[in-house]
Amino acid sequence: MNYPDPRYLRIHGAILDNWHDPAPDLMAAKQSRLQKARLLLLASGKSGLLAAQRLRTLPFGNLTIVPHRTPDLEPLRILLREAAPHGCVATMTRGAFQRSGFGVTMAGHHLMVVASDRPYPALLDTLNAISLRVGTAWSQISIWGAEITLGPTVIPHVTACYECYKRRCLANEGRPDLWRARDAWLRNDENWAFEGQLAPIAHSAIAYLCAETERFLTAFRPPLALGRILSRHMLLQRESVDDIIPVDACPACHATETMDRRCEGDRLASMIARTVARKERVHGTSS
Ligand SMILES: [Zn+2]
Repeated sequence: MNYPDPRYLRIHGAILDNWHDPAPDLMAAKQSRLQKARLLLLASGKSGLLAAQRLRTLPFGNLTIVPHRTPDLEPLRILLREAAPHGCVATMTRGAFQRSGFGVTMAGHHLMVVASDRPYPALLDTLNAISLRVGTAWSQISIWGAEITLGPTVIPHVTACYECYKRRCLANEGRPDLWRARDAWLRNDENWAFEGQLAPIAHSAIAYLCAETERFLTAFRPPLALGRILSRHMLLQRESVDDIIPVDACPACHATETMDRRCEGDRLASMIARTVARKERVHGTSS
């Protein structure tokens, strides 16, 4: 496979080109699209709470909040007692995140976003597998010291998935052993977190997440991290965007579809048609 694969670039370019959909009354049209949208937020730590606060200010048709761990339950519960502005309908699951049955929850939403104070690679692996199975798009934001990472925003079987991203990372790292060591450490200690947090960094991270959510669900501008990773170091004021080409033999997303089938033009058209039909079904069952 040549790098970058021209077939992938063609599909990726077609998606971004068609993302614009001009409307005479932009704000009203945006609002109307958000009112039809169902968003799932997996909230972890202070960033998760902040994301819940900010996302509730947007007029989603439905916002389901899932606390990541048990300590996240109470702060979110207190937040939801306050009335939401703009009539955003926000609900919260009774318990913390559980893998079993989560596919059903995810399938009833147009987009899932994860907001966390630190990366949780094991959690993201789990969510990636569920998303590829049920076909719901997802994205994530996490903070590593002073660095914010947004994405990848994944459309299952169209863009690179989280497994593709990890494999590309390892292939491009100068010191893959360091990357592996950090990954293993984060997987082994789910309770570790940075002590203290600069408020502006968390607020900026959540601003990125809100922008990504709004762009994805309203389709007026292309998402910032669709099939790519956006990272911003807040102290050095350095931003980088890295496109992720889907891995040819990715065990997660290649298991059900071959690259050749995915890259056919008709295949892309039918995928978009299926997505539209699926959105209509979701609205149909929710009304
Ligand atoms: Zn993949």
